[in-house]
Amino acid sequence: RARRPVLDPTRLAFLTGREEQRFLADRPRSLALLDRARAHMPGGVPMAWMTAMHGHPPVFAAEGDGAWFTDVDGHRYLDMNQADLSMNVGFGPPAVVAAVADRMRRGSQFMLPTEDAIWCAEELAERWELPYWQFTLSASGANTEIIRLARHVSGRDKILMFDGKYHGHIEDSLVIMAGNGVKPELYGLSDAAASRARMVPFNDLDAVDRALAPRDVALCIVEPALTNVGVVMPAEGFHQGLRELTEHYGTFLALDETHTQIASPGGLKRLWNLEADAVGLGKTIGGGVPIGAYGLSETLAQPLKQPPVMQGAPMESVGGVATGGTLYGNALSMAACRAALSQVLTPQGFVRTAALGAQLADGLAGLFAAGSLDWQVHRLTSRSGFTFADHLPRNAAEARELAQPGLYRLLRLWMANRGVWESVATAGPTVSFAMAEAEVEFYLERMREFLGDIL
Ligand code: PMP
Repeated sequence: RARRPVLDPTRLAFLTGREEQRFLADRPRSLALLDRARAHMPGGVPMAWMTAMHGHPPVFAAEGDGAWFTDVDGHRYLDMNQADLSMNVGFGPPAVVAAVADRMRRGSQFMLPTEDAIWCAEELAERWELPYWQFTLSASGANTEIIRLARHVSGRDKILMFDGKYHGHIEDSLVIMAGNGVKPELYGLSDAAASRARMVPFNDLDAVDRALAPRDVALCIVEPALTNVGVVMPAEGFHQGLRELTEHYGTFLALDETHTQIASPGGLKRLWNLEADAVGLGKTIGGGVPIGAYGLSETLAQPLKQPPVMQGAPMESVGGVATGGTLYGNALSMAACRAALSQVLTPQGFVRTAALGAQLADGLAGLFAAGSLDWQVHRLTSRSGFTFADHLPRNAAEARELAQPGLYRLLRLWMANRGVWESVATAGPTVSFAMAEAEVEFYLERMREFLGDIL
């Protein structure tokens, strides 16, 4: 269905140009730092996609406090994306700051377990209903280990994923659908990894059935709701069907809850009562300190329980499976994770952020109705958002069709000029644990002004 754009292209270009000019004129210090930085960092940034995310130069950050941060030009932003949810706890939660300072003073890394790790594993086992836990430094790291364990235990090679997924900076999952096949998503990746992957549209159980039928798929990895092409909600019965099919064909099922862990203490797995053989986590669970975590069923954990293999010299691998890293499970991550889980990401905290998420969704729906816009709002506890259309997407292809990147770019730029930051173009707004009703109101008020400006 062709849709008439809300803004005609000329007006969109005019408004974007106006906002761009204002953005650049108001940020001389950030621009000067970027200039200096280019001499020794390609693009002027320590991680290349910091330049690719906005359609304008990045600002240099100065400080964060709770739900807000400031840049080096003194602009203050309400952070509605929290660094792609990796700071959903808010900036500098006091309990985490205290735990991290204390652990740092007493030694932050020994390549030995600390008691905090037991506490974290116990707590995660309880929340996610999976018995065994291991830790990494990122969600990418967690998913890497899950994939390796699933391949080893199943004796199979293929991985099944869904169009629109993101599972991290991993050779195996940086692939996209290409006709009936799969190809590397970016440069620098091997065709070999793509040949070990299968991809199907989200919410398409017939396609899942066909992909699993050859019985050569080790693991199906899925986000309970897609969160990296906007949000795509699962259709009624999708997850139940997926679990039945994976069990039927002897494929392990992993839930990647790196983003959706903000939905409840046990993520969407717990909220929707899903079953899985593994769960991958990262980002905000470390309270702002790098961490990844993965939960495993009895079967998948089995290889890691075997005693170390000794071949003359001590070997770092356990049970022969390639997992682990020098800093994985370090004392600092574990202390931070314990503080975050016990004092920020509490059951009451999740109830509070879900209520704020409802306030956000209701507010957005009200604004769109008032502006005679048919844009639809989705509700995923603290992560509420919208499509520029009268229906929500059912899969990634539809989400891309409805996306209107030019309009969203204007929205982010307009918001940045008025104190609201969203780092990721397709994510939409999310409530953080550091927000209260006043912050949600602040965002909604800006949205009201934005709609007034463009309509
Ligand atoms: N899984 C999902 C669902 C994600 O959204 C991301 C990051 N956006 C990752 C894994 C990887 O996280 P990280 O880059 O922190 O390793």
